[in-house]
Amino acid sequence: MPGKFIYLDHAATTPVDPRVVEAMLPYYTESYGNASTIYSLGRESRRALDNARETVAQILNAQPREIVFTGCGTESDNSAIKGVAEANQDRGRHIITTAIEHEAVLETCRYLEKRGFRVTYLPVDEYGVVDLAELERAITDETILVSVMMANNEVGTIQPLEQIAAIVKDRGIYFHSDAVQAGGSLEIDVDRLGVDLLSLSGHKFYAPKGVGALYVRQGTRLMPQMLGGGQEKNRRSGTENVAQIVGLARALQLSDADREVEITRVRGLRDRLKDGILSSIPDVVFTGHPTQRLPNNASFCFKGAEGEGILLSLDLNGIGASTGSACTSASSDPSHVLTAMGLPASVAHGAIRMTLGRENTEQDVDSVLAMLPDIVQKQRTLAPV
Ligand SMILES: *Cc1c(COP(=O)(O)O)cnc(C)c1O
Repeated sequence: MPGKFIYLDHAATTPVDPRVVEAMLPYYTESYGNASTIYSLGRESRRALDNARETVAQILNAQPREIVFTGCGTESDNSAIKGVAEANQDRGRHIITTAIEHEAVLETCRYLEKRGFRVTYLPVDEYGVVDLAELERAITDETILVSVMMANNEVGTIQPLEQIAAIVKDRGIYFHSDAVQAGGSLEIDVDRLGVDLLSLSGHKFYAPKGVGALYVRQGTRLMPQMLGGGQEKNRRSGTENVAQIVGLARALQLSDADREVEITRVRGLRDRLKDGILSSIPDVVFTGHPTQRLPNNASFCFKGAEGEGILLSLDLNGIGASTGSACTSASSDPSHVLTAMGLPASVAHGAIRMTLGRENTEQDVDSVLAMLPDIVQKQRTLAPV
């Protein structure tokens, strides 16, 4: 009898928590009013929207007016980077980011490069931590924006945002962070982190796909990327997706409520998985930072094997994992993150990322540990030398 499917790809997306669905449902069929209308049905939607905004603001230690709801994490990143670039190009046309950002940031920066902006892609060390000395050196009078992710989606490394903010501070440079992977997992206090803009995406923390948020510090000059009816205080036009926004806020609230307990539980599972793999399989590199990493992230390179082959064998055995970034797995180029960390392509090709979540148990981990050594061994005999 086949066992249950073991999902270990929470960095790609998460299931929607039933409590989130429950909070959303009334806003589809009962309180479906347009939040911009003034009669009672619309006012119900407006109230739900206001509550959601207050909830998100409170958890991030922000003001409600500093929260802009968007259509996804990608949109939040695009809006932050293009928005700052377009609104501040009179002051300079230089942007600093890192070599290991998500494509939503990297592609936006490449787009701006084609439009006359200069972009510096900071290097990282072997653990994927950004080089702060290089950041200092890269800043010029022309620099208007620094964008550094809070935690990496492939290897889970957490960046020293507070130290970066201290370097950027008082230089008239905006600081954006893609916190999509950190959202719902790490504590996010925008004042303590010192960020001016911060991106979140609901589907990475048990809310639905297709809803995101962007924190925009009061006073930030930002060109809206969606023009129209002036919703979200003119920063993102489009009729508000009330149900999804309610879902995002509820999911963030649930994550926040048992953050400490869940972090400890998931980190325990992750360490069991990591230790089990490192002790039962030879020639494995545990990628990412040993301690400064997301509690749910276990990423490896299995030398002499193809990550994709391992992934497909795991799937045949009822286990869902990833070779790294879901967004680039269609290409066979080695991951830009692992490459930036200095891993040779031959090693990076053996990458497997397992990201744990709310529904995973010790039994799940033990099932993986029981199967993986044979799977890797078989793949090693198949892989081209
Ligand atoms: C998933 C992800 C995104 C994109 O978010 P979507 O809501 O899927 O558009 C951006 N950045 C990081 C780090 C991510 O993990």
